[in-house]
Amino acid sequence: MRAAIFRGPGIVEVGDRPDPVIEAPTDAVVRVVLACVCGSDLWYFRGESPHAVGSIGHEFIGVVERVGSDVDGLSPGDLVVAPFIYSDMSCPHCRNGSTISCVQGGNFGDGEIDGGQGQAVRVPLSGSTLVPVPGSGHSEETLRSLLALSDVMSTGHHAAVSAGVGKGDTVAVVGDGAVGLSAVLAAKRLGAERIIALSRHPQRQQLAHEFGATDIVAGRGDEANQAVLGLTGGIGVDAALECVGTDQSIATAFAIARPGSTVGIVGVPHGEVPFATAFFRNVGWRGGPAPARIYIRELMTDVLDGTIDPGRVFDYETDLDHIGDAYRAMDERRAIKSLIRVGSL
Ligand SMILES: [Zn+2]
Repeated sequence: MRAAIFRGPGIVEVGDRPDPVIEAPTDAVVRVVLACVCGSDLWYFRGESPHAVGSIGHEFIGVVERVGSDVDGLSPGDLVVAPFIYSDMSCPHCRNGSTISCVQGGNFGDGEIDGGQGQAVRVPLSGSTLVPVPGSGHSEETLRSLLALSDVMSTGHHAAVSAGVGKGDTVAVVGDGAVGLSAVLAAKRLGAERIIALSRHPQRQQLAHEFGATDIVAGRGDEANQAVLGLTGGIGVDAALECVGTDQSIATAFAIARPGSTVGIVGVPHGEVPFATAFFRNVGWRGGPAPARIYIRELMTDVLDGTIDPGRVFDYETDLDHIGDAYRAMDERRAIKSLIRVGSL
C-alpha cells in the first residue's frame, strides 16, 4: 500500500509499506478515508522531537475492511473514528480514565505500527479502540468534523474538562492553533459565558469568534497578561487553557488564572510549570494527552446533530502523493491544519 514515510527531519514523503493483515484475533484492518497532520507531527518534522524512520500519523477515519475472530462490535463496512492511540479499555489505567497509559496500548504511526497517513491501518485492540459512526450518507462537513474527534477536538475538550470549565465561566485560551481553536469550541459547548482567545492572526481570530470567543487578545507575554487581567477586573480567569506548550504560553496561562483556579494543559511540554507562582496563588493544573477514546462518543453525538463543527479547523487539503506539502503548509503557518484525502466512503 501507499503510505506516508517519515525519513528524517524535514522529509515526509509517500512510499510503499506492506499491506496490513490481521495478525492478532483482536485486530481490524481499516481502509483510511480521511487523515490529517497533527501539531505534534511538526515537532518531528522540525527535528525538535525524535521519531523513528517509517510510518507516521495518528489521526484518521476510515471503513473497516476485515476483523479478527475476537473483535466485538465492529463489522466490515463500518465507518469508524480512531482515537490517536489504541487501548484495551479494561486495564486499571483505562478504567481510571487514562487510556494513554493503557498497559496493552500503543501509538499509531510510530515508525513501526501503521500510521493514519496511509491507505490502510492494522488496528490492534480494535474492538475497544475504534468508535463506529451511526447512520450513513454523512456530508463532507460531517466527515471532516468526525476526523477532528480523532485528536484535535478531543484534545481541546480535554483542556476544558481538565480546567473544570462550567456554565457561566470566564475562560482564556492560550494558543490559536487547531487545538486552541478546538478548546474555544469545547469551552463554549461546556457553557462558558466569556471566552478570551489569545491570537495574533486575523484568520484564526475570525474562526475563534465563530467558535464562541467573545474577546480577542492579540499581544504576547506581559502585554497579553495585562490585557486579560484588564478584561477581568484584575481578577483573572476562572479557567486558563494552555494549548501551546512553550515557556511563554505556560507562563501566561499561570499569570492569568485567578487564584484558586485550575489551568488545563494540553500543549506538548517544551517548557516548565512555574511551581512557586502556582503554589502561592493556590492555582492547580491538570491535563496531559487526551483520553480521546473516552470523549469521542459524546462529542460525536454533537457532531452528528450539528451542534459543533470542529472540522472547520482544516483549511488546507491535499492527497497522499503530496503529503510533504501538507506538512510544509503547517510548518510555514500557511495552514491551521492540513487534511489528507486518502480514499472515498
Ligand atoms: Zn488499558
